[in-house]
Amino acid sequence: MRRSRKVKILATLGPVSSEEEMIRKLYLAGADVFRINMSHASHELMRTLVARIRNVEAELGRPIGILADLQGPKLRVGTFADKSATLKPGQEFVLDDNPEPGDATRVHLPHPEILQSVQPGHRLLIDDGKLQLKAQKSDGRSITCTVVSGTRISDKKGVSLPDTDLPVGALTEKDRMDLVAALDAKVDWIALSFVQRPEDLAEVRKIARGGVGILSKIEKPQAVARLAEIIELSDALMVARGDLGVEMPLEMVPGIQKQITRAARRAGKPVVIATQMLESMIAAPVPTRAEVSDVATAVFEGADAVMLSAESAAGEYPEEAVKTMDKIAAQVECDPTFPSIMTAQRSDPEATGADVISAAARQIAETLHLSAIITYTSSGTTGLRAARERPNVPIITLSPVVETARRLAIAWGLHCVVTGDAIDEDDMVHRACSIAYREGFGKAGDRVIITAGVPFGTPGATNMLRIAYIGAGGKGGL
Ligand code: PGA
Ligand code: MN
Repeated sequence: MRRSRKVKILATLGPVSSEEEMIRKLYLAGADVFRINMSHASHELMRTLVARIRNVEAELGRPIGILADLQGPKLRVGTFADKSATLKPGQEFVLDDNPEPGDATRVHLPHPEILQSVQPGHRLLIDDGKLQLKAQKSDGRSITCTVVSGTRISDKKGVSLPDTDLPVGALTEKDRMDLVAALDAKVDWIALSFVQRPEDLAEVRKIARGGVGILSKIEKPQAVARLAEIIELSDALMVARGDLGVEMPLEMVPGIQKQITRAARRAGKPVVIATQMLESMIAAPVPTRAEVSDVATAVFEGADAVMLSAESAAGEYPEEAVKTMDKIAAQVECDPTFPSIMTAQRSDPEATGADVISAAARQIAETLHLSAIITYTSSGTTGLRAARERPNVPIITLSPVVETARRLAIAWGLHCVVTGDAIDEDDMVHRACSIAYREGFGKAGDRVIITAGVPFGTPGATNMLRIAYIGAGGKGGL
């Protein structure tokens, strides 16, 4: 089975999409990677979901990516005596270290290190910014604020601190336990929430020891400020527009989305555009025009993937939401303007064998109108470099490592197939051509281009290109 688009779709699993039957439906509708949100899933549920996804994978014979999204240091206020309180703009309101229930004058902030870091003048955005406070003074145990706008605060609402450098890493105690459980369940990607600095990635790397891809969610201004270093240390990025739009002025989000997408593309790291892409489809079977345009913009920018959150996790139309994204993406990629936009953002190859071979393969495949670029990739690196070229012909990656095929499911344009290493050049051609034929990428007489590393079976040694004909019945020709 092959997709009719290059951009990938991530679908978040949740209450409406936990059963195997719905997971299969979402995969068939177009979901390439499933996201498990560790803010909501217990370890047991996470393991159950992984097992169900792997069943669907085995049944359909296609590698599926799984992303476990760690909650990160999401700050929340404590509770109120009456569950909520009504405030007036201009009044004073205090956040403190007193665990007693709050009222209209104060509430507990159960994060001592935060009480010590907020400085006068810093903004505190509660409940996605619906209530905005400004710190007036702070004594290390309490912060006295003025209410700038908004009137309501209630139990356990989230707190964003766009002006404060938080003295915490991106991993909380809960995240550490979730990370170990997710690694144990053999997920393919770990998403780190609220990354602030490059060092935040070091601890995850140490625990993960290379067994998983690490995706940094860019949702804080501090991360935007150090984007280049964070991209360098990450395996993939997410433009997490939900929290980003709280921590930064909303009107800055589209430009930042473009900057992150371009920087990630230049680095050859997969980038996912997330949050509210088809928000109205939580409750309606059709999207708004603006949402269609938003998904289209991400595809036109050359993002690797677009993501559904509540639309597929908790909405009334999960399958329709995936199908809608699939249709929009396929249509955009057929648009006559699409190839020139992709080309305009292409960066030169870096000085490595994998890059120059990928660039040459794209140029040859486009010039000769070949049916596919077929890339042998063991670690996945050459696959990602081939995707970085954004060729207008399909890319098939062949890997003997099932984990590589699953991880690459997130990357632009890669159709991943698990197959053993070639034993010699004839076998390399034969294997590549018969897989291209079998997977529906070419018929007898069509030509493909194959990249590989010789001697065969040595990772990181991409050094050859070969044009080949698909033979009769799918056999490799010359
Ligand atoms: P979340 O991340 O859904 O885990 O908050 C995405 C975002 O903030 O956009
Ligand atoms: Mn977020």
